[in-house]
Amino acid sequence: MQLPTLKTPDKQNILALSFDEILKLVQELGWKKYRADQIIAWIYKRHAAHLNEMTDLSKTDRQRLADVFTLSHLKIATHQQSSDGTEKFLFALEDGKQIETVLIRSKKKRLTLCISSQAGCTLDCRFCLTAQEGLKRNLRTEEIIAQFLSVQARLSESEAITNVVLMGMGEPLANLKAVTEACVRLIAPQGLALSARRVTVSTAGLVPQMKKLLQGPAPVNLSISLNATTNAIRDEIMPKINRLYPLDVLIEACKQLPLPPRRSITFEYVMLAGVNDSLEDASRLTRLTQGISCKINLIPFNAYPGSPYQATADEQILAFQNHLHQHNIRTTIRKSKGRDILAACGQLTSQFEQ
Ligand code: SAH
Repeated sequence: MQLPTLKTPDKQNILALSFDEILKLVQELGWKKYRADQIIAWIYKRHAAHLNEMTDLSKTDRQRLADVFTLSHLKIATHQQSSDGTEKFLFALEDGKQIETVLIRSKKKRLTLCISSQAGCTLDCRFCLTAQEGLKRNLRTEEIIAQFLSVQARLSESEAITNVVLMGMGEPLANLKAVTEACVRLIAPQGLALSARRVTVSTAGLVPQMKKLLQGPAPVNLSISLNATTNAIRDEIMPKINRLYPLDVLIEACKQLPLPPRRSITFEYVMLAGVNDSLEDASRLTRLTQGISCKINLIPFNAYPGSPYQATADEQILAFQNHLHQHNIRTTIRKSKGRDILAACGQLTSQFEQ
């Protein structure tokens, strides 16, 4: 399908409107209430890429909408496919900024979309390529949600995105308002209708916002990028966030988090050779996570051109996992996907030369 790419500058993208705002619009136009349901269904269930597709609205009504609004998905600047089936989309935003979105195929028909929340990133984590760009700007809700709609609209009828992780470019909780509204639409029955358990927000540890997200209208899964077991190491590899919310403050906050019933936190831990991957680190990790309902996801470091760290050897990752298992901590090792097209964790940038 050819997606519309141009937006008339003085028209607003209808994706900027919440469900309530669409209802208000319909009422202002003097239309029956069910028209709002029709429009919402076209956007979120049928993945329409243009207002003209809304054929259960009369031509005149469609024109009245089109006088004020557009329905625009994102413009694909480049699209790459990895040998493992992972696809990476570089999207061009209206102001020329670029963001990346990654579609990951895994077993059991799971189709995970890794979405960006900022162009660039607020933070300065030393092992992450996105950080080198600095923050360009926060994404708006419609730009976050359009990543989903743009990719879903390209898939065949038999394929549906089953999981969403906000783990692409940016620190989602530094853009809490737009991210929360995007999550609302991802999980709402009249929206994309994903279970809240299939939507994950990943944060480097913005403590007050973690609580706000869980107490807000979209209590999705929370992943926390821990990555270190001492303040000294965390200061070195994640300077900005650890100065704001040091390790002890972060861990204390995790103990108090208002988690929904039967839900646990995931701690992500990027394995950096000789930096945070010793068995002493594993021991400290066991102690730190005591009393927190959690699981640990070890992430093999993905190198990128000029990256200052080396990946931990596989045997050492296994030994680290083993140590955690011996202390009854659920620990998985992330299978990195899409490395050959720099689509794996920490490899996303809008500046990478194609
Ligand atoms: N800012 C958010 C989300 C983006 S990073 C956060 O910090 O969680 C998503 C995950 O990728 C984080 O767990 C981060 O620690 C990890 N990551 C970043 N760079 C990486 C790299 N080069 N190799 C492997 N994982 C990396």
